[in-house]
Amino acid sequence: MLGADLTVPVSSGELVPYANLDYAASAPCLRPVRDAIDAALPAYSSVHRGAGYASQLTTQRYEQARHSVRAFAGAREDDAVIFTRNTTDAMNLLSGALPPYTTVVVFETEHHAALLPWQRGHRVVRLAAPRSPAEAVAAARQALSTGPVGSRLLAVTAASNVTGELWPIAELARVAHEAGARIVVDAAQLAPHRPLEIAALDLDYVAFSGHKLYAPFGAGVLIGRPDWLSAAEPYLYGGGASRNVTSDVEWHEDPEQRHEAGTPNVLGALALAAACDALTATGWDSLIAEEERLLARLRTGLAEIPGVRELTLWDEQPRVGIVSFVVDGWTAREVAEKLSSDHAIGVRDGKFCAHPFVRHLLGAPDTDPATEPGGSGCGTAGTATAIRASFGVGTQEEHIDRLLLALHQIATTTP
Ligand code: PLP
Repeated sequence: MLGADLTVPVSSGELVPYANLDYAASAPCLRPVRDAIDAALPAYSSVHRGAGYASQLTTQRYEQARHSVRAFAGAREDDAVIFTRNTTDAMNLLSGALPPYTTVVVFETEHHAALLPWQRGHRVVRLAAPRSPAEAVAAARQALSTGPVGSRLLAVTAASNVTGELWPIAELARVAHEAGARIVVDAAQLAPHRPLEIAALDLDYVAFSGHKLYAPFGAGVLIGRPDWLSAAEPYLYGGGASRNVTSDVEWHEDPEQRHEAGTPNVLGALALAAACDALTATGWDSLIAEEERLLARLRTGLAEIPGVRELTLWDEQPRVGIVSFVVDGWTAREVAEKLSSDHAIGVRDGKFCAHPFVRHLLGAPDTDPATEPGGSGCGTAGTATAIRASFGVGTQEEHIDRLLLALHQIATTTP
């Protein structure tokens, strides 16, 4: 299903097929996604505006894309499906749409996209990393049933971008609702690996990104209950969101129109929808079975290499194809660079935009720095850093074995 393979030069001068083990950052584009973009390119035009053929066709495709994404996510009929730039954008949109002074409960294990947006005007309760899924549920229940009166939201990831672990989102949704609160699920790392079941799990809001779901950059989605979204200030002020402008402005109540001002990223939305359709057509059972086979091979192999330690919060928890680890005597950056330069293997290193969680897993203090001057903020500085291998559709056993062999060589030498 993937496009052409990439061959890259390594330090020996050889050209070697690239082993992309960095899917959790951005996954490669699927062939059906490219085909969908190719099909849309010759006749694309602005949506919801023109009477011309191209505009009508593109509007129809754009609304069909919304429909595909809704079906992929198992959303309710009346859920809003708002196209955003990515998960971060979706979470910020939701933060702006919460009733004023909502109490937002988060775990320190979150990616910054789900950890930080609530700091804009809400009361944030940050919970320590729980020692078990049961402790997570108990801590959430406790935090959601105390504190000032007002709306409450639990923000939680469905699959960790650091450990790949699956969080008990069904139980967390249940305790949130029992406490009269709502739940938003960061599904950036779940959506590419497992079916999303918004209605069946009774989730209030879900966000994910196209570029982690085998589509190109620039499109994501926020899906969820329409009431708060219809009542909120439009995310952007401008054309499309406004129904009538005189000396005053009348905004659309429909949450999708209200929060998608300006010309949307139509091709991004079509690509995201094509990825959803392609994964559904392939079938989750075969995707999950292959991922679990490769994951078991990787984790067993890592455990056999002296000096390599996998980072996990909950050892026995089911997980997706994301594994973080450290190598004794080496910094994460040194390992990642060597994997790239000598073995044509692409992995990620750092704190993965989850600084508190990675520090927690490595037992490092808050004073461990995250970003070097001019760095990206995703945390390649400091001593509390790790290497992350992540994979999905198109990953071969050979890629996993090459990583294990290379790590064995690295771990048994010095930098
Ligand atoms: N949430 C998780 C769990 C992630 O892994 C990421 C990206 O790495 C994000 C949110 C943010 O996604 P984006 O950068 O597409 O907004």
